[in-house]
Amino acid sequence: MAAYPEYPPDQGDEQQNYLLTSLKDWSIAHGLAVRPTIAYVSAETDPSGALATTAPVTLFPSLFPRVCFEQAKSVAQDYNELYSAIASDEEWLKQTVEELVDIDDFIAQLWKVHLAVKQEGYAQVRSTRHIQILELMMIEPLNLGLFRSDYMVHTDPANAQSRPCVKQVEFNTIASSFGGLSTQVSALHKYLLAVGAYPGTLSSIISDAALPESTSVPGLALGMAKAHEVYGPSNGGLPTCVIFLVQDPERNVFDQRHVEYALNRNHGVKTFRLPFGRVLEDTKLDADRKLLYSPPHAPSKQFEVTLVYFRAGYSPAEYQSQRDWDGRLQIERSAAIKCPSILTQLAGTKKVQQVLATPHSPHLKRFVPDEARAAAVLKTFAPIYPMDKSEAGQEARKLAQDPETAVRYVLKPQREGGGNNVYRKAIPHFLKETPETHWPAHILMEMIEPPAQSNVIFRNGELQKGGVICELGIYGACLWKDEDGKGRRKILENFEAGYLLRTKGSGSEEGGVAAGFGSVDSACLI
Ligand code: ADP
Ligand code: MG
Ligand code: MG
Repeated sequence: MAAYPEYPPDQGDEQQNYLLTSLKDWSIAHGLAVRPTIAYVSAETDPSGALATTAPVTLFPSLFPRVCFEQAKSVAQDYNELYSAIASDEEWLKQTVEELVDIDDFIAQLWKVHLAVKQEGYAQVRSTRHIQILELMMIEPLNLGLFRSDYMVHTDPANAQSRPCVKQVEFNTIASSFGGLSTQVSALHKYLLAVGAYPGTLSSIISDAALPESTSVPGLALGMAKAHEVYGPSNGGLPTCVIFLVQDPERNVFDQRHVEYALNRNHGVKTFRLPFGRVLEDTKLDADRKLLYSPPHAPSKQFEVTLVYFRAGYSPAEYQSQRDWDGRLQIERSAAIKCPSILTQLAGTKKVQQVLATPHSPHLKRFVPDEARAAAVLKTFAPIYPMDKSEAGQEARKLAQDPETAVRYVLKPQREGGGNNVYRKAIPHFLKETPETHWPAHILMEMIEPPAQSNVIFRNGELQKGGVICELGIYGACLWKDEDGKGRRKILENFEAGYLLRTKGSGSEEGGVAAGFGSVDSACLI
């Protein structure tokens, strides 16, 4: 990217106005939008909550090495296989989770929900069209993973001529967001190119062929439709539906709506949005643990839920009382397919990522037996260390406490959704303030340093121009059936489901768009 110092070029006022007008109109016309923050509207200016604004976006697609893009896509199915294997291997996961339960209350609570359901037996309703019987199976539950593996471009600092490659930032197994807006932003950049909003001097870099379409909307919807289909029709003759379990309020609602509408439109599946705090009000289990949903707007109607898609429930703050945990338990006990189950959610912890990335560890081979595939996955790992008292942990503790070495690392707790990590020079002080007994609840990861590039971000009506850092997310859909709870499973669907590029100002360590740091972007492959 150093070879493209002029990207994006400065524009004259007229050209910039044309670009911005085109962008603002297209984004609202196509739902590349978010609800405004409270800082921008009040009960007086928007009493009915009707306003929406353009989502934070980049004006130009960011440059991204084609080899890196292809590399990340090429391991998508392997990652699906890896994480479905981990989520099916309760014994293995237990060893990892047990290191956390005494020091991380949230993980402990999730594990408790899993154990309660395990004791009773995981439910799975299976219907056959011919003999209308209901079989309650103690094992073999169906699972849907809609994953997103996040990467940054890495170049070897000692060898500037070496080919860039991607290194994984993290692997998300719950509420992987922005699949909805990603498809829109990739279409936006293609549109801006088509209407001549980009200066002609860029024609040697940006072309329609260099802008890969993001297929995350149809991809994620297809994953859900497959799960819905495998669940089958209701034995009791009820209409069926998919539940989007959501936070309330939710600014990023259109991101979710795009996937919902695609599920309705492309697959004829009925969907409802259920706020996380209303599970016990609006759903119940019947004697066979089928999950039944009655919409508050039509309480006399009842739907059998085939799939619960979580866009909530990943953060401790969402569980405000025991009632919220009871709601989570109700869903986990139910026969509905969960995306994700508790075990799949736990498979996505940073601790699991660290255990897999430990040099010479046997774990990756165990879950991905094909050597070539395991090697391809291994290449995407960045160095990650435990913060426990093992030999590697002791080494990591030294690196993290020393201000000179700490600047190369990020310290991460077992949390999702952005805003939870401790970066670089803040790490030694953070550790001083944190009881040593809590250190093992974190992992220490080497910072990936992507090559410098520039872009212009349009956020809250303002333009921010400058150095940026891009993070590529590759979505994956995986539907599988657990066969023995010990790792044996049957994979029914496994496919890559589109991409996301998020871009943040290089001054910010965090990358989350919803957390207020980044913007949605698309890739211009070079
Ligand atoms: P979360 O689950 O909260 O999204 P992440 O592991 O993705 O946690 O960290 C949040 C952000 O921090 C990322 O989007 C990225 O911008 C930055 N980050 C995390 N790990 C690294 C890393 N190893 N190198 C560079 N940046 C990182
Ligand atoms: Mg992240
Ligand atoms: Mg995450």
